[in-house]
Amino acid sequence: MSVAFVTGISGQDGTILARRLVAEGVVVHGLVRSVDELNAWSRAERGQVTVHIGELTDTERVAQLVDQTEPDEVYNLAGISSVAYSWDHPVVTGLVTGVGAVGVFDAAWRLAQRTGRPVRVVQASSAEIFGRPATSPQDESSPIAPISPYGAAKAYAHLAAAVYRERGLPVSTVILYNHESPLRPTTFVTRKISSAAARIARNGGELTLGDTSVRRDWGWAPDYVDAMVRAVRHEQAGDYVVATGQTHTVEDFVEAAMTHAGVHDWRSRIRTDPALMRPAEASVQVGDATRARTVLGWQPTVDFAELVARMVDHDLELLGQ
Ligand code: NAP
Repeated sequence: MSVAFVTGISGQDGTILARRLVAEGVVVHGLVRSVDELNAWSRAERGQVTVHIGELTDTERVAQLVDQTEPDEVYNLAGISSVAYSWDHPVVTGLVTGVGAVGVFDAAWRLAQRTGRPVRVVQASSAEIFGRPATSPQDESSPIAPISPYGAAKAYAHLAAAVYRERGLPVSTVILYNHESPLRPTTFVTRKISSAAARIARNGGELTLGDTSVRRDWGWAPDYVDAMVRAVRHEQAGDYVVATGQTHTVEDFVEAAMTHAGVHDWRSRIRTDPALMRPAEASVQVGDATRARTVLGWQPTVDFAELVARMVDHDLELLGQ
């Protein structure tokens, strides 16, 4: 039976991944930060996976866990995942998202050395490594030029993955563009909008946003988790852009969400707060996932309208409970 070690298992992608691996019969070990986190995590997942308490920055602990659990597959999903948060906590972001990833690669490499069998790794990289891209769409050869502490930390981890690949570790990176699901916290704009659409549909009110002209390439999170699984299991480790190749503005998202929830006077309910604008906004981020499609056989299964509808339906259901 195959064994997986997943960091960031309590996050959006980690939760979706854990469900999938458990359904496949994989023995799943996950890293969580604290008992509080463990308690907060969905009951459905607990009991089906073995969770270990530990900080990604505690590289000795991570190495010890990887060595003890002897995984065939390692998924490094842990990290500070918010660009906005990274501006307030740049040092922690560098330590967790950047240096922490190297600790995971090194632990996997040492395990492979000790056991003499391959330990396959996938690193959750990000479109933010491209910063303000000069050309669109971006692919695996686009220049790495981050413009935020988050992007810089992800870029360091991305380059370190290539270093370990060179050293013989089969580590792939998935260069993820934004992907959403009802598991996104409301601190992210998509879930903020879907939950507001449900709230306004039920109780009225308003929604305050920053720059609604920002464009993003948004996909459905389980599709992106599927890309991670395909990447880690592919015989040839490499870098893969994972994206839909289509962009929509935040305003498009608002319109789709409000309309789906039945709020037709939505324009009059939107307020703008300059404090919500980002210090250095990336320009058009849109990914060319040709390599993931051709090499991994990956493709997105849920389009933008369906993604928004699923998130709004979930939030309407929550309000109904
Ligand atoms: P998420 O929901 O924020 O999950 C991040 C996970 O990392 C959480 O489980 C978090 O635990 C854990 N974590 C944070 N700091 C940690 C630390 N010091 N030690 C151990 N664990 C720590 O993120 P996601 O949306 O699932 O994304 C998964 C990965 O893909 C992340 O690395 C993210 O940067 C990357 N990515 C995501 C997107 C996207 O659109 N979702 C796009 C590009 C890249 P707590 O719950 O305790 O904080």
